[in-house]
Amino acid sequence: MGIRLGCIADDFTGATDLANNLVRAGMRVVQLIDVPEEGPAGQRPVDADAVVIALKSRTVPAAEAVDASLRALAWLREAGAEQIYFKYCSTFDSTPAGNIGPVSEALMEAMGTDFTIATPAFPDNGRTVFKGHLFVGDVLLADSGMRNHPLTPMTDSNLVSVLGAQTKGAVGLIDHAVVAAGAEAVRGRVDELREAGVRIAVADAVSNDDLVRLGAAVRGLPLVTAGSGLAIGLPVNWGFEPSLEAARLPPAHGHAAVVSGSVSVATNRQVREFLNSGRPAFAVDPLSIAAGEDVVGEALAFAAARLGDGPVLVYSTEAPEAVRTVQGRLGAAEAGDLVERALAAVARGLVDRGVRRLVVAGGETSGAVVRALGVTALRIGPQIDPGVPWCAARLAGGDTLHLALKSGNFGGPAFFTAAFGLTAREAS
Ligand code: ADP
Repeated sequence: MGIRLGCIADDFTGATDLANNLVRAGMRVVQLIDVPEEGPAGQRPVDADAVVIALKSRTVPAAEAVDASLRALAWLREAGAEQIYFKYCSTFDSTPAGNIGPVSEALMEAMGTDFTIATPAFPDNGRTVFKGHLFVGDVLLADSGMRNHPLTPMTDSNLVSVLGAQTKGAVGLIDHAVVAAGAEAVRGRVDELREAGVRIAVADAVSNDDLVRLGAAVRGLPLVTAGSGLAIGLPVNWGFEPSLEAARLPPAHGHAAVVSGSVSVATNRQVREFLNSGRPAFAVDPLSIAAGEDVVGEALAFAAARLGDGPVLVYSTEAPEAVRTVQGRLGAAEAGDLVERALAAVARGLVDRGVRRLVVAGGETSGAVVRALGVTALRIGPQIDPGVPWCAARLAGGDTLHLALKSGNFGGPAFFTAAFGLTAREAS
C-alpha cells in the first residue's frame, strides 16, 4: 500500500517537528533528507503511513524553492500520497517575494486544485491565529522578535495581507467563529470563498480543538499548507489513533555520545548540566581549529578512551560573549563553517568507533552531521522532549543508528542525559 500523507517541509528541523506530531497522532513516519535521486518505484518500498521530505527552501530564491517543492511533490505522488501537506514555520517566515505564496500556488497548479488553506497555528508552542492575525505567545507577530529576523523580518501580523502580497490569486479568511462552529461550518465557508474566487484561506486556530476541527474539515482536500500544528488533526481522517507502535524503532546496539554545536541559551544550559554531572566532555576550541591543530583527532582520542563509561560529550557550545570574540577573530560565517565541519568529522569518527546512539545539538550542526554520516532517511520514533524525537537511520554497513537532532532552543536542562534514559547525576 502506498503512503497516505506526503509532506514537503521547507527546512530540516521543521520537518522533524511535523513528523513528530504525526507519529504522536498514530502514523508511522519516515523523513527523507531532500528529494531522493531515484523515484519511489526505484527504491525499496517506503514502509510508512506518511513521508516528510525535508528541503532547505525557506530562504532560497523563490524559483529554487518552487523547483525543489515540485520535485518533492512528484516523488510523493508517485509514492501514492493521497494528500499533500506543505509545511512552513509557525512564525510564517517569508518575505514579499516568498516563499510560502509562490510554493503554495505552484503546488496547486501542479496538482490541478483550486483551493487550499494556510495556518501556521501551533497553540502548544504559543502560536495562535485569530482574525487572520498571528500571535507569538502574548504578542502579535510584528511585535515579537521576528520583527528583527535577519532573513525574514515579519513586520505585518495580518497573514491575509502577508500571504496576499506573495500570491497571484486572492487570499481570504476562515475566521474563528466559523472554525469554532465545527468542520461542517468550515466546509461551508470554503465553498463560499471558492465561489468568490478566493484560492487560499488563512484559517484561524487558537487551540488544539480548533486544529482538530480544521483537520476534519480538510479531509479530502488535495493540498493543505500549515505549520506543524495541523498535523495533530489529520491522521484521524484515515482512522489512525495514538499508539506506541507508531513510534517503534529498530533497536540500536552500541555506545552513546552527544555532539553539540549550538550556542543557544537552552543548549548552554544543557552543556552546563552535563558538565556538572561529572560525565566526560571535550571542548572544541574554534581558534585551535583555525590554527591548524588536529582538534578532531584529539576529541576522538578523548572520546574513544571513555565511550565505555556512558555518554561522552564533544561540544563547541559557548556563552554569547565568547562566541562573539571568536566571530570577531575569524568572521561569523567562517567560524560557523569551521566548527560545523569539525563537529561533523567528530560525529563520523564516533560512529566509526561504535557509537550507535547519538544526540546532536544545533540545527545547522545537525545538517552537517547528517550529511557527513551519509544519512538520507530517518524513521521517526518516540519523543524525548517536545519537538525532539529519537530517529533511526540505517548505516552503510547495515547497522541501525539512533539519532536525536535537537535545534537550539529545544529540550529541558537535562536533555543530554535524559535522552539516554539517565538522570543527570546517575553514576555511570
Ligand atoms: P542553533 O540551532 O542553536 O542555532 P546551529 O548549529 O544551527 O545551532 O548554529 C550554531 C552555529 O554556531 C553553527 O554554525 C556553529 O558551527 C557555530 N558555532 C558553534 N560553536 C561556536 C563557537 N564556539 N564560536 C563560534 N561559532 C560557533
